[in-house]
Amino acid sequence: MFVPHVIDGADTESLDGATFPTVDPATREAHADVALGSAADAERAVTAARRAFDEGPWPRMGFTERGAILHRLADLVGEHAEELALADTTDMGKPIDDARGKDVPRTAQNLRFFADHARLAHGDALPMDPDASGSGHHAYTRFPPAGVVAAIAPWNFPLMLESWKIAPALAWGNTVVLKPAEDTPTSATILARLALEAGMPPGVLNVLHGYGPDSAGAALTADPRVDRITFTGESGTGRVISAAAARNLVPVSLELGGKGANLVFDDAELAGAVDWSIKAIFTNAGQVCLAGSRLYVQRGVYDEFVERFAAAAEALVVGDPKRSGTQIGPLASETHFRKVRSYLDGLEHHGGKILTGGGGEGWTVTPTVLVDAPADAPVQREEIFGPVVSVTPFDTEAEAVRAANDTPFGLNAMVFTENLSRAHRVGAALRAGTVWVNCFFVRDLRAPFGGMGDSGVGREGGDFSREFFTEPQAVVMAIRPGDA
Ligand code: NAD
Repeated sequence: MFVPHVIDGADTESLDGATFPTVDPATREAHADVALGSAADAERAVTAARRAFDEGPWPRMGFTERGAILHRLADLVGEHAEELALADTTDMGKPIDDARGKDVPRTAQNLRFFADHARLAHGDALPMDPDASGSGHHAYTRFPPAGVVAAIAPWNFPLMLESWKIAPALAWGNTVVLKPAEDTPTSATILARLALEAGMPPGVLNVLHGYGPDSAGAALTADPRVDRITFTGESGTGRVISAAAARNLVPVSLELGGKGANLVFDDAELAGAVDWSIKAIFTNAGQVCLAGSRLYVQRGVYDEFVERFAAAAEALVVGDPKRSGTQIGPLASETHFRKVRSYLDGLEHHGGKILTGGGGEGWTVTPTVLVDAPADAPVQREEIFGPVVSVTPFDTEAEAVRAANDTPFGLNAMVFTENLSRAHRVGAALRAGTVWVNCFFVRDLRAPFGGMGDSGVGREGGDFSREFFTEPQAVVMAIRPGDA
């Protein structure tokens, strides 16, 4: 199979014909050749997006017409659900049930939500005081599109995170060059073809494949014709992209890594806390920015919680991601597998021991529960991005909050308690962009999403996405006094 770029409405090979293989982590064999974009291909993709923005119909359409095309695309995503789900599963080993049941439906939901959000949004009308001459003024706000958006995505939720970026960008009238992660190219090409079928004009949604540094990704962020850069990926890459954006004074949105703290208090409803904590760390084999990888449990329930939690981790179904029923598939690539393994191999040196897990065949790591890891051990400080959780006991609420906030990341945290005051108090004290109380991963697409510290810059979602993908404008009109 060949996975081309989609530029200016057409499947496109790289100018120099270069390709790279994409590997199925379940078989550890290449399953497709992908167009390898160079700086020259990035130049072509931005030219197409620029032309579609400056001269094409898309930014000039009404919200209803644009929204209808995005809804048609959502319909097509539903019709092609199986093909899209299989593309992500084959590219990165995500269990097919998750791809079918979560990623693909959420992709359609992102498209529908932002189509409607843009259509139904309203600005402010600001009546102002009259001046000495009796002239009044009246200000109102407008939200014209920003222009060409470069969207750079990671491999852990390919379609879902790509649509989280391109749906608001497109709904507000921008044109897009999407660069999917090199490990997960296939679904983006399918999505761009479906967008054309849905009636999106050529050049509005372009897909450019390739690597990041010194390649397609870097060329995209350096192009002065790009008006917005939205990036999801590692914190280190975020710094590089931020510097590139600064050179052209381009607004950048960064959704970066995490090291989510999960606090279970003595008064928690234990069955629910165990169940959510399992989901928080083992969903997508822990390859989730929001993973609850630091689990703090109050001393009174520590032994019982850990026993139930470890048993639940052992009960997860590990295996072939393409088989329905599998809950833990392989890690996305050999490089990533080696990185995750290195944390387990380093335990001997840094401290901490494996209570359960730590095995696995091929590039799989079985659900792993660690105990006794010191607070300064790499497994407690760094984002492992795998099915590995470190459990630590605590005595007081203040101690739990201190431990949770003792991290450079600030993406999300979870609190399990039946005490209402404690839920609000602890939630407010946690330095995290999202706090979940007695749940995990539940999202309202209107809510701000993003991280503090090393977890990111800016927020996306609802009005926050509008803010980023438009150039909010104030129009101030004089209202002259009449002659009466
Ligand atoms: P990554 O930073 O390695 O790559 C992400 C994307 O950036 C890829 O498309 C890559 O090709 C591109 N890229 C890399 N270097 C670049 C450069 N110099 N210029 C331009 N583009 C470049 O991240 P990853 O390994 O694909 O994804 C995993 C990371 O993403 C984890 O840290 C995870 O926490 C984070 N993540 C964050 C969120 C969030 O919403 N905060 C969501 C999902 C994943």
